[in-house]
Amino acid sequence: MPLENMKVMLAKATAGRYAVGAFNVLDYNSAKAAVQAAEELRAPVILQTSAKTVTFWGSRTLMGWLRELTASSPVPVAVHLDHCKDLDLVKECIEAGWTSVMIDASAKPFEENLSLSRQVVEMARPRDVTVEAELGAIVGVEDDIHVKEQDSHLADPAQAAEFCAKVQPDCFAPAIGTAHGIYKGEPKIAYHILEKVAATTRVPIALHGGTGLSDEVFRRCIALGCAKVNISTQVKYAFIDGFVAYHNAHNTQYDPLKVIKAQFDEMKKGIAANIQLFGGVGKA
Ligand SMILES: [Zn+2]
Repeated sequence: MPLENMKVMLAKATAGRYAVGAFNVLDYNSAKAAVQAAEELRAPVILQTSAKTVTFWGSRTLMGWLRELTASSPVPVAVHLDHCKDLDLVKECIEAGWTSVMIDASAKPFEENLSLSRQVVEMARPRDVTVEAELGAIVGVEDDIHVKEQDSHLADPAQAAEFCAKVQPDCFAPAIGTAHGIYKGEPKIAYHILEKVAATTRVPIALHGGTGLSDEVFRRCIALGCAKVNISTQVKYAFIDGFVAYHNAHNTQYDPLKVIKAQFDEMKKGIAANIQLFGGVGKA
């Protein structure tokens, strides 16, 4: 089926208390791994691209692969631009066929974040493209998890309510204590904030920094309203580790297609496990 935006899939996930897996894909092989995993499990799926990946390959090339991979797919697939700060790139992706975009103006002051996010909604809505917006700061891979530091980055529920009322995003990413990259300690998830934000905004919530969270954390966050779970670091690790492990085990072979297949299998295995964990099986 043709690509779709996130609206229906996230509404169904919110109502059914499961989450759609959003996997950061890097190339044709990783995108194919995500699509095949979703097809085998009859699950909806979101293929996400970082701004860096779009710039690396070019939006038209990337969209060409993604369209080809999903044209005859029986499951709903959305193609989403992850964390984008550049409105020109947002526009380029919308024109190239992305069905969903994220504007990340969370580093800006509140009013500026509001205004930039609103601009993206105005740009996207006439094209039937969904928008995810962020409030608070989701800490990055370099940051140690210190509660004090972390607290200052969390989304404020009253601001979140105002932000969502004014921006009207299709998906909302409040900082609730998860982090991008690999966790260096036990993450302290602000469940009380998540619960309040989900209840007051009534917008499907995106959980960022999914790699490394325990099954229990996922279940709790999904039960509280997270309808989209982002997995990026895990795909990156499988991409490299799948490749290296095969080569190390067959280090005289030099048959690139076998290495690519091993890499594919490793990525697909991780993606399928996540789809199962998030409750997406059979929901397509
Ligand atoms: Zn993120």
